[in-house]
This record gives sequence, structure tokens and C-alpha cells, in this order.
Amino acid sequence: MHEYSITCSILDILNKVVKENKIKKIKKINFEISSIAHIEPDSIEFYYNFLTKDNNILKSAKLKFKKKKAQIKCGDCKEISNIENLFVTECPKCSGRNIKFISDDEIKIISVET
Ligand SMILES: [Zn+2]
Repeated sequence: MHEYSITCSILDILNKVVKENKIKKIKKINFEISSIAHIEPDSIEFYYNFLTKDNNILKSAKLKFKKKKAQIKCGDCKEISNIENLFVTECPKCSGRNIKFISDDEIKIISVET
């Protein structure tokens, strides 16, 4: 159900963009997903298709998802590192354990092609 509410907020944004720019049809939407976010692109697509089935402007858009690596910042050496998953417990550079996740949007609309 997580993806359902995410898709709803994506649609809110898209509807606003469509209205503001008087867009007649959206062909493609490019998303960026944080690699540590628990988001299934397939589920987003499923809900998107379901929620836009009566919306001529949005219903035929292709959804493209790009994974974005999450980052941590080390409190000791101040180095920012890309990470693959949440199981990182120390800084890759100095092995310090004083690390913090840099919070980022779970999913972001990068661009819309019309
Ligand atoms: Zn470090």
C-alpha cells in the first residue's frame, strides 16, 4: 500500500504540471528512486495505470525509473560516500562509525516528456 499513496502524490504533482503548462498529453515520465527506498517500480506502474485509466492526458505515458545511490556522510573524516544498501555501519574511507545517512526523497520526478 506504500506505493499506492506514493503514486497518488505523484499524480497530484502531474495534474498540477499538466494544468499549469496546458499539456495535452504526457508521453514519458522519468523518475529517480533512492536505492535505499522500499519502492517497487512495478507497483508504481501498476497503480499508475489503474489510477489514470480514464485520464487521456496521463494514461499512455511510459514510466522510466532510474536508481539513485544513497549517500552517507562520515562525522570523522567528513567524506560523503555512495552506498548500495542500509547495512553499512562504517565509513568506507576511514572505517569510522560516526556515519549519518543523507536523507533524500524516496522518489522524484526528474522530467516529463510531452
Ligand atoms: Zn570517514
